[in-house]
Amino acid sequence: MWSKSEDAPARGSMRIDVLTLFPEILEGPLRASLLGKAIEQGILDVALTNVRDFATGRHKTVDDEPYGGGAGMVMKCEPLFAALESLRGKNSLERVILLSPRGRRLDQDMVRSLAQARDLVLVAARYEGVDERVSQALVTDEISIGDYVLSGGELPALVLIEALSRMLPGVVGDWESVETDSFYQGILGPPQYTRPAEFRGLTVPEVLRNGNHAAIRRWRRKEALRVTRARRPDLLSDCSEEDQQLLAEIEAEDSAPDRETEP
Ligand code: SAH
Repeated sequence: MWSKSEDAPARGSMRIDVLTLFPEILEGPLRASLLGKAIEQGILDVALTNVRDFATGRHKTVDDEPYGGGAGMVMKCEPLFAALESLRGKNSLERVILLSPRGRRLDQDMVRSLAQARDLVLVAARYEGVDERVSQALVTDEISIGDYVLSGGELPALVLIEALSRMLPGVVGDWESVETDSFYQGILGPPQYTRPAEFRGLTVPEVLRNGNHAAIRRWRRKEALRVTRARRPDLLSDCSEEDQQLLAEIEAEDSAPDRETEP
């Protein structure tokens, strides 16, 4: 399902429906900055559905005690099924993603793959999570944003939405900035500098200031490899020939005796 490194461009626009008990958590971030602009321009459409609106009964109950006992409450089936069914005709419902610490851990390849979809449904849970039958019958994918537990799926949903938005044409002004992002090319990004050229005795590498674009490209690739080798060697599995040569240079530099301290 998660094809690796899909290079097909993402579609022109995308609709995302979010099922949540706290739409207000998402509203502010969806209005700000690049995400806000993408929504304003119609590149991205995010619709928030309050699951409580689909609860029945006097108390509009959305949660109940777990079968078998134990701590906390579990989100009930009925309101979630009804909320999802209300989206028929607006969303294809082909991909219904539950944000969950038990899900597959999100990475850039998954983001790229999901960005190909015309529409998505995200389910943000609360309490101890959803009744397992929601996962069984409604959900097509479970996604975690990392190995830690939050109190709800709203922030994870925002993380996914923002990551997806960067893959949609027109959201990030300069596509090159997406291509040089960490992980887009499978490794961490290179260091960046801006003016002034010297600040409190700290200088910007000469190569970035001389306008030699081939040299700059090579330097950036090499420094990206250097930081990846130091911090995330697990990302260096399949390297091109150029990368292998740059890595060999980095290794030689690291193991060379420090000339300054030589007699
Ligand atoms: N008892 C659950 C955790 C519930 S946390 C368990 O142990 O698996 C409540 C909700 O917050 C989850 O259902 C999920 O929607 C969201 N959530 C918490 N941590 C998350 C994470 N790392 N990634 C994605 N969603 C998360």
